[in-house]
Amino acid sequence: MVGSAATAGLDPEQLEAVLAPRGPVCVLAGAGTGKTRTITRRIAHLVDSGQVNPGQVLAVTFTARAAAEMRERLATLGVAGPGNVVAAQTFHAAAMRQLRYFWPMAFGDMRWELLDHKFRMVGRVVRDLGLDASDRDLLRDLASEIEWAKSSAVGPEQYAAEALRVHRDVPTDPQTVMRVFAAYEDAKVAPNGDRLLDFEDLLIYTTMILQSDPSIAEEFRSRYRSFVVDEYQDVTPIQQNLLEAWLGGRDDLTVVGDANQTIYSFTGATPSYLLDFTRKYENATLVRLQRDYRSTPQVVHLANEAIGKARGRIAGTRLKLVGQRPAGPEPIFAGFDDEISEVVGVVAQIRKLIRAGVQPAEIAVLYRVNAQSEAYEEALSEAGIDYQVRGAQSFFERPEIVAALRRLVSLAGGPPPPMQPVDAVRHALHQVGLTESEPKGANARSRWQQLLRLVEIVEAIAAEGPQLDFAGVVAKLEERSKMRHAPVGAGITLSSMHAAKGLEWDAVFLTGLHEGSMPLGRASKSTDDVEEERRLFYVGITRAREHLHLSWSLSRGEGRGAKRRRSRFLEALVPVSKSAMDFEPLPERTEPDPDVLAALTAWRTRFAESEGIMESNVMSKSMVRAIATAVPTSIEELAKVRGFGAERADVIGRAIIEVVDAALPGKNAKT
Ligand code: ATP
Ligand code: MG
Repeated sequence: MVGSAATAGLDPEQLEAVLAPRGPVCVLAGAGTGKTRTITRRIAHLVDSGQVNPGQVLAVTFTARAAAEMRERLATLGVAGPGNVVAAQTFHAAAMRQLRYFWPMAFGDMRWELLDHKFRMVGRVVRDLGLDASDRDLLRDLASEIEWAKSSAVGPEQYAAEALRVHRDVPTDPQTVMRVFAAYEDAKVAPNGDRLLDFEDLLIYTTMILQSDPSIAEEFRSRYRSFVVDEYQDVTPIQQNLLEAWLGGRDDLTVVGDANQTIYSFTGATPSYLLDFTRKYENATLVRLQRDYRSTPQVVHLANEAIGKARGRIAGTRLKLVGQRPAGPEPIFAGFDDEISEVVGVVAQIRKLIRAGVQPAEIAVLYRVNAQSEAYEEALSEAGIDYQVRGAQSFFERPEIVAALRRLVSLAGGPPPPMQPVDAVRHALHQVGLTESEPKGANARSRWQQLLRLVEIVEAIAAEGPQLDFAGVVAKLEERSKMRHAPVGAGITLSSMHAAKGLEWDAVFLTGLHEGSMPLGRASKSTDDVEEERRLFYVGITRAREHLHLSWSLSRGEGRGAKRRRSRFLEALVPVSKSAMDFEPLPERTEPDPDVLAALTAWRTRFAESEGIMESNVMSKSMVRAIATAVPTSIEELAKVRGFGAERADVIGRAIIEVVDAALPGKNAKT
């Protein structure tokens, strides 16, 4: 078969994976080494060589976009066309189809319907439990917790213990989550047995049917014989259960993945199935790919350096990538004084690339949180450069912004408010969720960040037009939202780093690489979280084929919060350079930070009291000063403060880092 379309242009390792006999195959490899290419070729080869019929192959991945991409590649290879169909689907789509087919056989007349708004159902049960259901963000976060628990195969009764074990960012007390979760599960079942199934249930029920009904299992297994999973590092326990139910003890399974690209742990995904694959299937063909076909040696070098600093079990599995492409430009590192300068600098560089002939569709701007897209949307609109926002609506289309704008417009139609326009806006937005301090829970926080951003836009409008009254400011705001370019196909891509996984562009801009944003402020508490952020940084770097631009800013802007540091992930990556764009890291402190010192002193007193020990036994005064001088950002850094030591760090390290973080608002700057 060598020489066919399926095997042409593959390197020896890729070829080994493609040609391996039917049975367990595991491809463990870094970014850009051709994993997705290898599995599509393997499918084509199995089909071409008559080892399996196309209809017997089930290829699964995690996003609809990735599934579509796989179908496209299979179609090019001639094995996904009409009448010659390899199923390439997401886990959910595959489960839904199977459930539709098998449900009547398993449950007879009992009916099911898809519950696609978990959030509404959560609202209903919260009300039925007599709890306050007015906080929509809390409802959303409760829904996310239920989703995580179900994806992790954790039931209501185990929720509290598991959430504690994995340090979940629980939106309210765990007992309440547990009660809501249990009530939610009950509420989906009608007295006559009919039921609503959420997305996790699709997987759970399909698995259950296949496990408990031998004749259905028999029918399924005679239909599908060969299974392939892309991005296997992101599988959740219930997806894994389904996969095992599909297999039913068979072993015709090809998986590919990169544990160092695990970036969805917070949804329950885990790389352990990938890493344990060859232990489970001792006869598996294991292939490692190291040649990077995507990126220039310059980008590859930086990727190796960045992930080279990772720690822990996952990091132990990484391989050094070897760049295969011709040399390209050195990555550009650019530090700026404030966020606006960063956006201006990035857009200037984008123009330069376009002038040099890079296609706009081959350029991406990646950021850590979706709220960061707005500044780029704005600047690109102004520069007349088309763009599209991937994985999220563009700023002015987001529901909270649409709602906020509607409210402002309706207020602007009434009597003028008795205060400054900006204050009036703030006041109005207060009522739609702009609280004084950052709220708890991911959804609440995201919404809050968007609203904060809206206030900043209003501040800018008011600064440009000091004569404008409230209605005038709101009119400008509306105008601004309408001016935005409608998304078009060929523009540059704006995307979160998460949504960029698996994709590639000629030019990639990684933006907002400062502490508090990368790693995210709330993620810099535990080592595991920081490591996941580091992997995200690695995913970002490895999206670039040729041009890579890494930028950060040292403050939010004039008078808005304290100075902040560039990302710890950039340490030792940024070349020492005399470029005017480059900023040296902030000078090391020689004196304690007064805020940190005060906060730590107070904490020491409280802690000593609560433990019934002397303050000096918690730590000495000079130790408190040493910590307030070093301002550590992680437990590891804390352990290195002279005299503190790893043992003490184990016991009180986390608490101290939290105190330091809370005392340094600039470091946790909202982004
Ligand atoms: P990621 O981890 O980011 O998902 P991946 O390992 O799946 O990456 P692919 O997307 O399959 O990598 O391949 C990366 C790029 O390298 C693609 O443009 C692909 O066409 C190209 N490529 C892969 N293998 C080869 C090869 N043997 N020869 C030439 N180009 C290749
Ligand atoms: Mg891939």
